[in-house]
Amino acid sequence: MAGSLTRCVSRGIFRPLKSVIQTKVPIRHLNLLEYQSKVLLENHGVTIQKFRILDSHEEAVEASKSLNAAEYVVKAQILAGGRGKGHFDNGFKGGVHLTKDCNAVASLVEKMVGHKLITKQTPKDGILVNKVMVAESVDILRETYFCILMDREHNGPVLIASPDGGMDIEEVAEKTPERLMTLPIDIYEGITDEMALGVADFLKFQGKLRQKCAKEVKSIWNMFLGVDATQIEINPLIETHQGQVVAVDAKIQFDDNAEFRQKEIFAEEDFSESDPREVDAASQNLSYISMDGNIGCLVNGAGLAMATMDIIKLHGGSPANFLDLGGAVEEHQVEHALRILTSDNSVKALFVNIFGGIVNTATIATGIVKVLQKRPISIPLVVRLEGTNVQEAKRILAESGCSIEAVSDFDAAAKKAVAAIN
Ligand code: GDP
Ligand code: MG
Repeated sequence: MAGSLTRCVSRGIFRPLKSVIQTKVPIRHLNLLEYQSKVLLENHGVTIQKFRILDSHEEAVEASKSLNAAEYVVKAQILAGGRGKGHFDNGFKGGVHLTKDCNAVASLVEKMVGHKLITKQTPKDGILVNKVMVAESVDILRETYFCILMDREHNGPVLIASPDGGMDIEEVAEKTPERLMTLPIDIYEGITDEMALGVADFLKFQGKLRQKCAKEVKSIWNMFLGVDATQIEINPLIETHQGQVVAVDAKIQFDDNAEFRQKEIFAEEDFSESDPREVDAASQNLSYISMDGNIGCLVNGAGLAMATMDIIKLHGGSPANFLDLGGAVEEHQVEHALRILTSDNSVKALFVNIFGGIVNTATIATGIVKVLQKRPISIPLVVRLEGTNVQEAKRILAESGCSIEAVSDFDAAAKKAVAAIN
């Protein structure tokens, strides 16, 4: 899967592109679990089911009883969709289950917690389930699809809706595009009553439900603005036999640039699914991206990272990762970065490739030398520095007495790094 969000929107495909390394720029994408998203929805007046969160089966019976429901839905909490149709590494089928029996809730929770759930949207070996939601089940008559997202092509927010929810929306977009509504929203005007009612009509909410749906739509819009979301997807938004409109599943993405004013939300981030090196790097304002090869790469800037990957591949090598130092880099960050890179056992050689525009290359050189003087590293280290203060940087490397292969030319340096492995 490659390409821009815009193209994805026009094709009706708007899953997060987090896994797409080729197009990844060093941004952090905050993802929340379903239950965290639902707390936000509820706080913004959107109708959700009553729920409890469990991290073991022990409190399951009591928690279910406290919901006082005729039927329960038990849902594994992972940062990926498609759970209903997924399966666990212990052979258990389905990450979403219904039951009327509190004891059965406990046994469902037991089968989920501590096991990996594999779905169409997870990595091949799945994602470990640490938390399970038990909620009062809703009596579903129909499932619809609703989403608001920021879309580059429209230079602003766009509302996407379909009366065919619950299923793969990509499939709806492909096979029955006439059942998908795409409505650009004027960011200043927002969603007017008229627009909201139009959406309710398109989603086939009739009679009293028309107003109810319109109210949910407007609440979701207000939340979209209020939490600085880039996407709120409700799939399904359902109609019950009792005449309610309920958001049953939610996926929200946030604008990372708004972190400073959404501190509470960003503090919710669950790192248990993240690569610990990525988290470690982020704590120092560094971006770390893991890959499959064996050459560790310390670079600055996404463009140079891409070029470095290409040239390593061209010479028959394969990057193990990228650590992007960014612009305003300080010595301690260089030290931290090298520590992260060398902590990865798959890294058999290190390639430092820095172009100093804003970055003072002497700062990089000093950082590298400090690390090596404290603790020599056992793998080959190829360093290519270019740009600001590079003569001084070269002097620092040369006079350090450390085992560093300093190369000025990008191509020659990449060749050296690949050769160091072979
Ligand atoms: P996903 O598979 O990860 O997208 O998880 P969802 O929360 O969307 O649940 C998947 C499907 O399970 C939904 O489309 C519904 O058909 C069904 N489902 C979820 N919650 C309930 C519920 O409370 N009651 C009933 N009857 N079905 C539910
Ligand atoms: Mg869903």
